[in-house]
Amino acid sequence: MVGAQRRCAPTRDIMEFEPVIGLEVHAELQTKSKMFCSCAVVDSMTAAPNTTVCPVCSGMPGTLPVVNQKAVEFGIRVALALDCEVQHTSIFARKNYFYPDLPKGYQISQYEQPLAINGKLIIRTSAGEQTIRVRRVHLEEDTGKLTHVERDGKSYSLVDLNRAGVPLLEIVSEPDLHSAEAARAYGEALRDILRYLGVNSGDMEKGVIRFEANVSVREKGDKGLGIRTEVKNLNSFRALERAIEYEIERQGKIIEAGGTVEQETLGWNETRGETYSQRSKEDAHDYRYFPEPDLPPLALEQNWIDEIQSKLPELPRAKYLRFIKDYGLTEYDAARLTDEKEIADYFESAVHHLPSTVQPKTVANWMLGDLFSLMNQADLKVGQLKVRPEALAELVKIVSEGQINQTSAREVLNEMFESGKSASEIVGMRGLKQLSDESSIAELVSQALKENPNEVASYKSGKTGVVNFLFGQVMKKAAGKANPQVVRTELEKQLAQ
Ligand code: ADP
Ligand code: ZN
Ligand code: MG
Repeated sequence: MVGAQRRCAPTRDIMEFEPVIGLEVHAELQTKSKMFCSCAVVDSMTAAPNTTVCPVCSGMPGTLPVVNQKAVEFGIRVALALDCEVQHTSIFARKNYFYPDLPKGYQISQYEQPLAINGKLIIRTSAGEQTIRVRRVHLEEDTGKLTHVERDGKSYSLVDLNRAGVPLLEIVSEPDLHSAEAARAYGEALRDILRYLGVNSGDMEKGVIRFEANVSVREKGDKGLGIRTEVKNLNSFRALERAIEYEIERQGKIIEAGGTVEQETLGWNETRGETYSQRSKEDAHDYRYFPEPDLPPLALEQNWIDEIQSKLPELPRAKYLRFIKDYGLTEYDAARLTDEKEIADYFESAVHHLPSTVQPKTVANWMLGDLFSLMNQADLKVGQLKVRPEALAELVKIVSEGQINQTSAREVLNEMFESGKSASEIVGMRGLKQLSDESSIAELVSQALKENPNEVASYKSGKTGVVNFLFGQVMKKAAGKANPQVVRTELEKQLAQ
């Protein structure tokens, strides 16, 4: 239709497009054992391949699956955190297809009756806040992992079944996202929630969360949906964002040229920064779904759901709003301090050790500035820091009392970071204590003025800029350790005499 309009009115202004995006997110549920057997869930990057495999998850005939209750609980936790309606009855189905990473020849997944429906997630982007509807949340099992290698001029594919049968939660959004930025914000918000709930480590580089982006564009103002493409296997936020941007632009060009977007499944080539066709609508799989005959419907009691609800921790958004309200933080600072629970806990603990005269904002500044940059350089997590929250609070207190200046404080923090010593210990050892008492500073000022009569004269004749030179002279006498505010006040006082 859009193409027809183009042909009738070739001089028309350039069309304005609105991207429409819906995300399917696969998140591993990091339980101790797999979804339908007792094999351990292990780190796929470090565990030796094919070491946690049994007849059930390797698809031997005659075996029977048993549902992992913890995985169901984890799934319910996520569903409730997303404000979904948890269903009292959900049904496992067989999704049939043939692929080397799927030893059974089918994946057990929930299809027509998922675990939960009708949820929502509030995201923040540069355009403000937006509510994204969550269509469904369902339980399934992961596949094995294929690695393609070249050796002696031949190609091989290696399969590791450690991952086969690991519990997987699929979270499907409505097509409510309208930019790559929003899609990323949705992905990140979801990752944060999964981590807060303790069901997934959020380590994207280990592939524990994977995205599929459904993308279409429509003319601005249109209500219907355009033809979509589906980009599979996006394993990082960057890939998610870039792939969506690429698709929006590619589809926009097709429509503008009067063409029609083809409905297809795409892959993402990270190196080339391009999507490529994997299969078109014509050769879409027919999964021949049918209810899993070896598993009864999953029946959940409301009591259990209520109990899980009552034990949900404070979630990232609630914490974010509370940090702004209770601690007077900016939205930006609150966002950065709440995307990981450990960081938020560290901040709150430091604030609790602070005298009430010091603003919590000061702790936020130290954390988001120097402490985070030291952490990043050393590639450490907040839980691994030698600087404990109470030690950071002590440093902040000493600085706010004027005992040491900002420059010394940064050196002190560096050393605290390396050695784990306390701020007061380091200040004492290094003799960093700043000269704050007024009479000693007054003495230094009066000496400096005596030694520089010409500058004092030019100050008095109106060249007030020389005050900086005189300030420098006083600081030199104090070996840089005088409290700068006190020096300034004293200088101005004596010069006015
Ligand atoms: P499947 O991909 O398994 O066929 P659905 O058709 O239910 O499943 O859609 C999956 C995802 O695609 C959902 O997140 C949905 O919001 C999104 N989606 C559906 N149609 C469009 C569209 N025209 N443009 C963008 N996203 C869409
Ligand atoms: Zn097993
Ligand atoms: Mg899909």
